Amino acid sequence: MSTTPLTLGPRPTDPSVDHEIQSIVAGASTAETCNTDLASGPWNFDIRPGYGPGASMGDVIPTGAPRQGELPAEYRTASDDELHARIRAAKATLGERVVILGHFYQREEVVAHADYLGDSFQLANAALEHPEAEAIVFCGVHFMAETADLLSRPEQAVILPNLAAGCSMADMADIDQVEECWEQLEEVYGDMAAVDADGLVPVIPVTYMNSSAAIKGFVGRHGGIVCTSSNARTVLEWAFARGRRVLFFPDQHLGRNTAKAMGVPLAQMPMWNPRKPLGGSDAGTLADARVILWHGFCSVHRRFTVDQIAKARAEHPGVRVIVHPECPMEVVDAADEAGSTDYIRKAIAAATEPTTFAVGTEINLVQRLAAEYPQHEIFCLDPVVCPCSTMYRIHPGYLAWVLEALVAGTVLNRITVPADVADPARLALERMLAARP
Ligand code: SF4
Repeated sequence: MSTTPLTLGPRPTDPSVDHEIQSIVAGASTAETCNTDLASGPWNFDIRPGYGPGASMGDVIPTGAPRQGELPAEYRTASDDELHARIRAAKATLGERVVILGHFYQREEVVAHADYLGDSFQLANAALEHPEAEAIVFCGVHFMAETADLLSRPEQAVILPNLAAGCSMADMADIDQVEECWEQLEEVYGDMAAVDADGLVPVIPVTYMNSSAAIKGFVGRHGGIVCTSSNARTVLEWAFARGRRVLFFPDQHLGRNTAKAMGVPLAQMPMWNPRKPLGGSDAGTLADARVILWHGFCSVHRRFTVDQIAKARAEHPGVRVIVHPECPMEVVDAADEAGSTDYIRKAIAAATEPTTFAVGTEINLVQRLAAEYPQHEIFCLDPVVCPCSTMYRIHPGYLAWVLEALVAGTVLNRITVPADVADPARLALERMLAARP
C-alpha cells in the first residue's frame, strides 16, 4: 500500500469535469450528464435533506447527517476568477499555518489550490508531515476529515469546507445498525471473545476506510481492523489468522471482490441487510459463512456495467480496462485489471507504449489522468458525466469562505472525533498499519 500522496506541481490543461457539465447544460456539448442540476451552485441544495444532484436514488441520507448552513452571498455570487484570486490571497497570507488536501475525486477547480492530492489515507498521512499547520483543510468528504482528525495533533483543526460533503457509502453503515448486527451475531455464535480449538474467535469485524469514525471505533473495540482498497487482501489475511469469519463493512463489493480473489466461495459470503432479522440470512448460512458482507455500495462505482466494458472493447480494439474494486463483481470479472486509485494511477504511469485505457472509477480522476498522460487515450467507462455528488459539494466558494475566515481568526466547519471514539478507532488504524502481506 502506498502512503505517498502527490505534491502538486503544474496542473494539466483543462481536465475540468465542471466545465464539461456547464457545456452540456449550455448545449455546447453533446455529451450527457446524470443530472443537469450539477451545473448549479451546491449551496442551492445544502438546505435540502439529500445527497444532492447526481446521487443514486438508492442512497438515503441518515437523519443525523451534518447539514451545511447558508454560504454567505459574497461567495455565492463571486465570479470564478474572483474566487480563485481570493483563495490564492488567503492561502498566501496563511502560509504554513494551513495545509490544503485534495482527494483524487475532487473537482479540478478545488484541487488546483491543494498542496497534496491523494486518496483518503494518503492525505491523512500528508497532514502528519505538517505539525506546524494550525489548520488542515480537507477537500474530500466527512469520513476523510474524521480520519485526518484521528491522526493529526489535538491542537490542529481539521476543516471540511462544506459539511454537506458526506459519503453515501459510509452512511450506509450506521453505528446503531452495526451494534444491533453484532448483538444478533452473538446470539448465533455465542461468546464473541471465546477462541475455538484453532485459536480463532467467531468473528473479526473489518471496516473499509470509507466509514465513519464511530464504525472504526466499534471495530477497534471488538478486536478488528480497518482496510483500504490497496490493502484489503492483506487485512483479510490478518483477520482470518485471528477469526473464523469476517464481518465486512460498509462496501459489499470490495469485500466480495477481495474475498473471491482469495478463493472464498460466494456461497460462504452472505449479505447482511440491516433492515431484516439476521440480516436477511439464517443461522445455518451464518454458521457456514467466511465473510458476512454489509449491504453497502458506492453510488459512483455502482454505475459501471459489463455492457460498458463490451462497448469499450468493440469500439476500441486492444483497450485495457481497469476498474476500481468498489465496482460490482461482474464488472471486476469482465475487466482486465482491478485496483485502487493508486493502482490505476501507477498502471497508467507505467505504460511505456501509447495505450487506450477505459477506466472504471470517478470521472474527476479519469479526466485528470487523461490530461496528464496525453500520449495515451484514457476515458471513463461510463459515458455519462456523473461525478461523486458529495465530493462535488466542495465548490471553490466554500474553500474561499473557510480560508478567509481563518485569516480573520475564525475556524469554521471543524470536524472533531470525541476521545471515546477516537482511541479505539486509532487502534483499528494502527492494526492496519502493522498488518503485513
Ligand atoms: S466515490 Fe463513492 S465511496 Fe467515494 S466518497 Fe463518493 S460516494 Fe463515497
